[in-house]
Amino acid sequence: MKPSTKMRDEATGRYLPVIYPEELPFWEGAKKRELWLQRCCGCGKVFYPIGAACPHCFSMKFAWERMSGKGTIHNWVIYHKAWTPWFEDKVPYAVVQVELEEGPRLTTNLLDCKPHDAKIGMPVEVAYEDITDEITLVQFRPAKP
Ligand code: ZN
Repeated sequence: MKPSTKMRDEATGRYLPVIYPEELPFWEGAKKRELWLQRCCGCGKVFYPIGAACPHCFSMKFAWERMSGKGTIHNWVIYHKAWTPWFEDKVPYAVVQVELEEGPRLTTNLLDCKPHDAKIGMPVEVAYEDITDEITLVQFRPAKP
């Protein structure tokens, strides 16, 4: 996988994430259906967004680590307006902030769940959505009991 500055998929009109070189372990992990984030070698905390330094202690030493993929909904919002044409048949949809067991929070979509069924504290698990041949998004869905 290579870094990418492509902003939009011409075939679908969907906006694409810009992929920076330092994020490649995250995106390559997603392609393999694995969630990888950085653990700080200074304070031991997992952090996100991906960066060159730990936001807790500013150490620049870290190791990539596979996450459990389990977490809970910390917060949510429901989008009723399609801000780009690609979303016109997707609204309403939920955008949730998931707090991982390992600590960091990721903002994602909630798959396999009606938007208004999203609840704070709801257990969720990581899910993956292939949006191009190259790019797989990290998403979440309600955890199986
Ligand atoms: Zn740290």
